[in-house]
Amino acid sequence: MSTPDKKPVVGVSRCLLGDAVRYDGRSKANPIILEKLSPLFELVPVCPEVEAGLSTPRPPVQLTGSIENPKLTGRDDPLVDITDIMQDYCAIRPAQLHHLSGFIFKSRSPSCGLNSTPVFIDGLSAIETSRGLFARRLCEMYPDLIVIEETDLYDDEYLDKFTRLITKR
Ligand code: SF4
Repeated sequence: MSTPDKKPVVGVSRCLLGDAVRYDGRSKANPIILEKLSPLFELVPVCPEVEAGLSTPRPPVQLTGSIENPKLTGRDDPLVDITDIMQDYCAIRPAQLHHLSGFIFKSRSPSCGLNSTPVFIDGLSAIETSRGLFARRLCEMYPDLIVIEETDLYDDEYLDKFTRLITKR
């Protein structure tokens, strides 16, 4: 949301801002967000996995078992299962983000991916793509939220549309 003197407030997957919060202890700084969008919007960094209490670095996880109701289990160690931890987080955190006009999600992430996250079923390679658990819950709670994945920011048309829709609010 925005007022005449305030910038629109937009959430962003925190690793895209250059913070080293990814499972491998690195960031995924996105130059478009940092150079073009940060002057226009008040950016609210959100890292669901860190905010849920997981350490950095941490074992990588992936969506498994089902397209509709996937679990979040270890990529290298299938005994790792953080589904309940993330579901508990997703039951609380989205309600605190009601002031956002939009959200920029990190693609392919099992927590943040919008439409691009691989799902592994029966130990096979990914047969389908789905939405990360946090992105899914946030979009369910706020169906009018203006959302985009960072990969689409490189398409001028998408970037322009996203920026226009947010600034019109
Ligand atoms: S993709 Fe999401 S959960 Fe993963 S490091 Fe980035 S902000 Fe955190």
